[in-house]
Amino acid sequence: MSVKEQLLSIKKELEGTSAQLIAVSKTKPNTLIEEAYSAGQRAFGENKVQELVDKAEALPKDIAWHMIGHLQRNKVKYIAPFVHLIHGVDTLKLLKEINKEGKKNNRIISCLLQIHIAMEDTKFGFSMDEVRELLDSGVLDELPNISIVGLMGMATHTPDETLIRNEFAGLRTFFEALQTSYTHSQLALEEISMGMSGDYKIAVGEGSTMVRIGSSIFGTRNYTV
Ligand SMILES: *Cc1c(COP(=O)(O)O)cnc(C)c1O
Repeated sequence: MSVKEQLLSIKKELEGTSAQLIAVSKTKPNTLIEEAYSAGQRAFGENKVQELVDKAEALPKDIAWHMIGHLQRNKVKYIAPFVHLIHGVDTLKLLKEINKEGKKNNRIISCLLQIHIAMEDTKFGFSMDEVRELLDSGVLDELPNISIVGLMGMATHTPDETLIRNEFAGLRTFFEALQTSYTHSQLALEEISMGMSGDYKIAVGEGSTMVRIGSSIFGTRNYTV
C-alpha cells in the first residue's frame, strides 16, 4: 500500500475514538511527507532536532511539528520558535530551558511530561512520584512560558499485550488523578500521548489522545533511531 492508503486506513480506524494521529516521519524523505500532507495529514513527529528544523523549513508552514524524541537542552533553541508540542520532557532542567527559549520567542510552548511506564530502564521519563513532587514544588510559578498539556508514555517492547495494556491503563489512571488534584495556570491536562505502530490499538482502547505512528504509515526504517 502507498503512504496515502496506509494513512487513510489508520485515520479510518481512529475515527470515533479520542485519538489524533501524529505521523512519525523520522528518517523519511520530504516526498513521503508531502504525500501524507496531500492526503490531509498536518501533524508530523520527528525525533532529531536538525532533521525537524530542516523539514520544517522545506515543507508547508501549516504543518504542526511534534518533537517526540529525547531532547537535549542545548538544542531547544532551534525548535523553540515554531514547535507545536514537545512530547518527551523528562527533567525539570529541560522544562526550565524550554521556558527560557519560550520567553525569548515570546511564546508559550506546549509540553508533555514523559512518564516512565515500561519495564526497560533504558527509556527516559519521570516516575509518577517525581511528577507529583514537581507539581507540589511550586516551580511552575516560575515557568510562565511553558504549558504542560498532558503526559506521554512508551510501553514495554514485548509481545505480552496484557502488560502493555496495564502500562497504558496505569498512565491513564495517573493522568486522571493529576487532573483532579492539581490546578495551575501552567497546567492544562488534556493529552495522553501513547501508542506507536506496534501497540496503538491497545493505547486507543486505554484512552490515548495522540498516537505516534511511523512505520505503519511510511514503511520500516532502514536504521533504528
Ligand atoms: C519512532 C518513534 C515512534 C514511532 O514508531 P513506529 O514504531 O515506527 O510507529 C513513536 N514514538 C517515538 C518516541 C518514536 O521515537
